[in-house]
Formats: sequence, C-alpha cells, structure tokens
Amino acid sequence: MHKKSLGIMAGILMLTLLVTGCGQNKEKKTGIQVVSSLDFYGEAAQAVLGKQGHVTAIINSPSLDPHSYEATTNDAKLVAKADVIIENGLGYDRWLNKLVNSAQSDTQTVLTVSQLMKRADGANEHLWYDLKTMPALTKQLVHQFSKRDPKHKAIYAKNGAIYLKKLAALDAQRQQLQAKAKGQQVAASEPVFDYALEEMGYQIANRHFAKAIEDGTDPSPSDITKLRHLIREQRIAFLVVNKQEESPIVKQLHELADKEGVPVVQVTETLPAKQTYLTWMQQQFNAVRKAQDLK
Ligand SMILES: [Zn+2]
Repeated sequence: MHKKSLGIMAGILMLTLLVTGCGQNKEKKTGIQVVSSLDFYGEAAQAVLGKQGHVTAIINSPSLDPHSYEATTNDAKLVAKADVIIENGLGYDRWLNKLVNSAQSDTQTVLTVSQLMKRADGANEHLWYDLKTMPALTKQLVHQFSKRDPKHKAIYAKNGAIYLKKLAALDAQRQQLQAKAKGQQVAASEPVFDYALEEMGYQIANRHFAKAIEDGTDPSPSDITKLRHLIREQRIAFLVVNKQEESPIVKQLHELADKEGVPVVQVTETLPAKQTYLTWMQQQFNAVRKAQDLK
C-alpha cells in the first residue's frame, strides 16, 4: 500500500475512533455509572440496572491477571466519575481501592464484596465461587440503585428478581453434585475453586500445596510426594486444575492423574471470553458431574 493511502486510512481510522468515542461518552452519561474490578460483578450490576445506567468492568478479558493488574490513568478517570464501585476486597483488587481512595468522593457508593460476605482478612479471595456471593451482591445492588434512583425502584426490583432466578439454577445444579460428593476428598492445583468444592461437600486434601502454587512459591517436596500418593492410590475423587496457571509441577501431576485414571476438572480464575457468569459456572459444574460419572 502507498504511503499516502496509508495516511488516509489512518485518518479515517482516527475519525472513526473519535466518532465512536463521542458516541460512547454520550451514552455513558445517562443513568447510574458503575465501575467494577471484575467482569462478573459488573454483569450482575448491568442485569439489575438494565437501561438505567452503564457498567464498566476493568478486568474484562481472560488475559488480564487480576492478581497482578496495574491500574491505568483511564481506570482512574472512570473511577473518579463512577456513582457505584464494586470491588472484591481481601487484597485481590487493591489497585481499585487505591483509585477509590484518591478519588475521595462523598457521593460515591463503594461495595466491597468481601465485606458483604463477612469474610475477614486472610480468607480465600475467590469469593465468586461461593454461590451465596452473586445473589447477595444482586440484592445489595437492587437496594443501592433504588436508594440512588427511587423513580426506577420497581425496575431494579424486577430486574434483580429475574437475575436471581437465573442464579438459582446454579444452586440446583450444586445440590445434585452434592448428593454424589458424599464428603469425598479431592485435590486442587490452587485454591481458586475451593468455595464451590466445599459447597458441594468435598474435602480438600492438599491445601498447603495449593497455597504454595497460588503464592507463586515452590510446593515442598513432602507436599508433592503426598499429592502423588493421593493420586496413585486413588484416594481423591478428582484433581482440580486451574488451567490458566499450569506450572511444570502442576502439569506433571495432571499427567499423573491422567495416567492413573483420576479425573481432572479444569477451572479458570477469570471469566472466559464470550461466557456469562452463569454459563461459565455451569460449564465447570458439568465438568465435576463428568468426573463423578467417571468414578
Ligand atoms: Zn487467584
């Protein structure tokens, strides 16, 4: 392509960006403005808001690691303009908390999911795998949006009820899994899926190992040996692997499980592309069901 046409193309592209940029800004100005760190919390907010506002989730791609995310100046601008902010807490999204503190707005509502769920410091931060979390957040959002915008109170209540009904399907699925779990032992590469496993009635056999992997440290040789034995002796119902973080040692254990015929349930820390919270959870719960059926 000629340099000149490249220049024109770039010009057109810039113009398009400017135009769509303006359009978005206009849209963003109406109704309640919400910013969430995590996309699935934003999904709950959008479900309740409907057309009465706009939600921006900062972690909105599976390629962004929430644990090591660094806020941008654009994030700071978004947070400064937001009416309602949803953070996970427990140090998971400390960067958002910093932005909230520097925005110093007294008209903003900050919802911290860990506080809502009464989880103290040191608790497992993957709160969205606790099936009580999303319903509790949804109810809280209905309450907060209604307080802020009483005119649309009935809409928020109705939207909230619809979303809660969808979420209830997930708990029904969990109950079916629980009936087969019967308190069996399982192992996990990381504590990502622990709340869900506990709610299904499983015992987690290798917490110390999983914590080391999550912290990015080497699990101790004795923890590794112990886990190998659990797999070889078929003492676990299945092995849970966070497929976003398969370190060499996790990979080895995954292979060992495959070799020994121990089912492997793959989960992710972040919402995969083109999924909703509900479809994502259902997919992972189906993987547990498959593992149960293999045994
Ligand atoms: Zn994590």
